[in-house]
Amino acid sequence: MKIDYIKIKKPLVRWLSGVRWKSNFQEIELEITTFCNLKCYNCDRSIRQAPSVECMSLSQIQKFVRESINLKWKWNKITLLGGEPTLHPQILEIVEIIRQYTNLNPNCVLEIATNGYGVTVNSVLKKIPGWVSIRNTDKTSIIHDFCSYNIAPIDLREYRGADFTKGCWITTACGLGPTKYGYYSCGAGASVDRVFGFDVGIKKLKDVGNRSLKKQMKIICSYCGHYKKNRNTKRTREEAISPRWANAYSGYRKQKPVLSKY
Ligand code: SF4
Ligand code: SF4
Repeated sequence: MKIDYIKIKKPLVRWLSGVRWKSNFQEIELEITTFCNLKCYNCDRSIRQAPSVECMSLSQIQKFVRESINLKWKWNKITLLGGEPTLHPQILEIVEIIRQYTNLNPNCVLEIATNGYGVTVNSVLKKIPGWVSIRNTDKTSIIHDFCSYNIAPIDLREYRGADFTKGCWITTACGLGPTKYGYYSCGAGASVDRVFGFDVGIKKLKDVGNRSLKKQMKIICSYCGHYKKNRNTKRTREEAISPRWANAYSGYRKQKPVLSKY
């Protein structure tokens, strides 16, 4: 009886996981720094929960541009974000490096996604060249209607057996999310890896594809609270953390995981 129940339940849960969200290979969000001047509740980069000042180096940005040019990769949009990207100490140099790519592909938009908060951020924004788009979320507080990012679906009974390779709408809408540890299906997934230390960042652009991303998503999406949005879960303003995340943050505070670099 028990075996029959499992046989029926697993495919049913997989089917209920919904559609497989397509990875977006035309857009990319570079997490150039994990530092942020805000510490929002339920931040899906774990800025509040696991603060860090790590940054992508200029040589990593150059590597990204070189790979993109060599592979003739057609990005429609490259976004610089964080953390708070304007607080990367070399943000202007990064913009100039990416210009080497946009000069060759003028259809590609370079965008900076900023929280727009504080004197320092706004003074840097004034120095950004006019050809760069600015997406300003104009944050004024640390409380927002956010997804319960830190409620891992794998901690919830109803998601046991779910097909985590299906991901969620974010991978389709926002594109890839590289950090100093490599390419990820999305930025929120990269943050899972930074805290848990699975070390599943893809180190070469030529290796990024549906197969490699599905393999990665099978792990990271099982911990990412965004996965639950497939079922219209409510947003929250309060800090919400499930047991696996609580353990991971506790371990992170004692010793940060060591990941191999991009
Ligand atoms: S502004 Fe954005 S990156 Fe910074 S803590 Fe808030 S949600 Fe996270
Ligand atoms: S890691 Fe999270 S945000 Fe990214 S595709 Fe998976 S569920 Fe969505």
